[in-house]
Amino acid sequence: FHDAGEVADEAELAIEGALRPHSLDEFVGQQKVRGQLKLLLDAARIQGRPADHILLSGPPGLGKTTLAMIVAHESERPLRLSSGPAIQHAGDLAALLSSLTPGEVLFIDEIHRMARSAEEMLYLAMEDFRIDIMVGKGAGATSIPLELAPFTLVGATTRSGLLPNPLRDRFGFTAHLEYYESEELERVVARSALVLGVQVPSIARDEIARRSRGTPRIANRLLRRVRDYALVHGEGSAASAGDVHAALDLYDVDRIGLDRLDRAVLEALVRKFRGGPVGLSTLAVAVGEEPETVESVVEPYLVRIGFMGRTPRGRIAMPEAYQHLGLPQATGSPL
Ligand code: ADP
Repeated sequence: FHDAGEVADEAELAIEGALRPHSLDEFVGQQKVRGQLKLLLDAARIQGRPADHILLSGPPGLGKTTLAMIVAHESERPLRLSSGPAIQHAGDLAALLSSLTPGEVLFIDEIHRMARSAEEMLYLAMEDFRIDIMVGKGAGATSIPLELAPFTLVGATTRSGLLPNPLRDRFGFTAHLEYYESEELERVVARSALVLGVQVPSIARDEIARRSRGTPRIANRLLRRVRDYALVHGEGSAASAGDVHAALDLYDVDRIGLDRLDRAVLEALVRKFRGGPVGLSTLAVAVGEEPETVESVVEPYLVRIGFMGRTPRGRIAMPEAYQHLGLPQATGSPL
């Protein structure tokens, strides 16, 4: 079972890769960020140097990795992928940085989870393309300077507020990715349907777009489940609006796109904590999740659609949340 699960995950990852746009022109939405990135890349090309370091922040699935790949592709430079959790010692980062070829694009996902010691090494590397390697211990320790090939760092983080200022300040360009509008997600779905070879009428595309939490990755995932459903229960290569409803109900995606965890958080907030205010970690424990997941994955969307509010005293439920759950607001009845 375990093996089968891993194979399925790999297949899903491969499909996710196949659905990635390769150029800024193919990248849907985020018009402002696209324009800014284009200028940055064009200027670097004219001067024949690597582009400035880029920091991308925003909830998961909005296109940070895809943009890093596009930066490498558009500037015709190789790309190296790494992540904060993989860099637990300064030595890990030294090995990575010293193996870069001139002009390479280095993508560090979840850069806020990198070890502190590595962070400090990164400051110097970003600024001067140089690192100091410590050799030996105690009184005999010396540092040996090491020149690096110039590179472009693309850092991604779910929340730029988690980065220490000195690190944030060393990026020449910082962009925050926003949730996508339904109309943009519909374009993502249309493009992906073409790649997957499945026909989806516009009414069904619209439904998938509205139920994707403003997130392209979710739109693509729902499209694949709808395709599965059409294959097994429907007409195979053409998905109907009915297939969309049935497939999304099967996977517990409600009519405005909230998934099981979103609803668990809302229900806990409303029922257990009588609408709040309640602290993040208390709320996370109540739904059996990591505070970081609740904070970076669940909350931003609930806040954005006006279901949840953040106050200095904690999280609160907004009237729209009660309406959506079909509960009267005043009572805040405990279970
Ligand atoms: P992140 O790194 O922010 O978690 P990814 O870059 O991995 O997100 O994107 C997740 C999926 O969504 C990918 O399959 C990608 O192709 C798709 N995607 C993200 N943003 C866009 C976009 N603007 N246009 C088209 N597809 C997108």
